[in-house]
Amino acid sequence: MKKFVLVLALALMALVLSCSGGGGGGDDGPDYNYLNNHNANRLNGHTIRWPSTTIYVNASGVPGAQAAFNRWAGSVNFAFTGGSANIIVRMGNPGAGRCGVTLTRWYTSGRIFQALIIINPDQSRCRSGLAATITHEAAHAIGYFGHEDGIMGPTSNGDTEITGKHRGFLSLLYSMAPGTNIAGFLRRKDGSAVSGVAFDPNGRRLIETKHYSR
Ligand SMILES: [Zn+2]
Repeated sequence: MKKFVLVLALALMALVLSCSGGGGGGDDGPDYNYLNNHNANRLNGHTIRWPSTTIYVNASGVPGAQAAFNRWAGSVNFAFTGGSANIIVRMGNPGAGRCGVTLTRWYTSGRIFQALIIINPDQSRCRSGLAATITHEAAHAIGYFGHEDGIMGPTSNGDTEITGKHRGFLSLLYSMAPGTNIAGFLRRKDGSAVSGVAFDPNGRRLIETKHYSR
């Protein structure tokens, strides 16, 4: 009987260890694979973000821009200014009849250098509306690359939700320094491949990521 209890205790310990020791795989832990898919795989498995969590935005002349940006506030914060800024937002022609476009320029060190968002003044074909278009483009300007679901879907389909995945992405991205190598945290399956341009800690080479969005 004593032996049975010991075996049971060891089995329980093993169970507890296997649950807590994954280090970034589970549903409730940090999702490094998601971070890789939407950011780090552009820089060979290294994070790309603004150096500061306070990001200056000049969105003068774009109605509702402050509230639209502030939907992402938390892991980062936005300071709105009429002068020089990290992110410039203006009304204009994004091209190809799109709702908006974002050009995010970043160094091979993983530091974002500048971002430009152009919003189409005619949002009549953008089912999610002007505010959602701005919120969507804002995510591209702070490091969310590519598209998936909710407000980060590829088309303006009326879904304006910011999901837990989106929030977790930003929280994880801005908890680490720019250029952090996350390759060691990736699960083998689904999207663990790292690719993209070579990371350079002193990188002064500028890369431009362009999102014709929504
Ligand atoms: Zn987009």
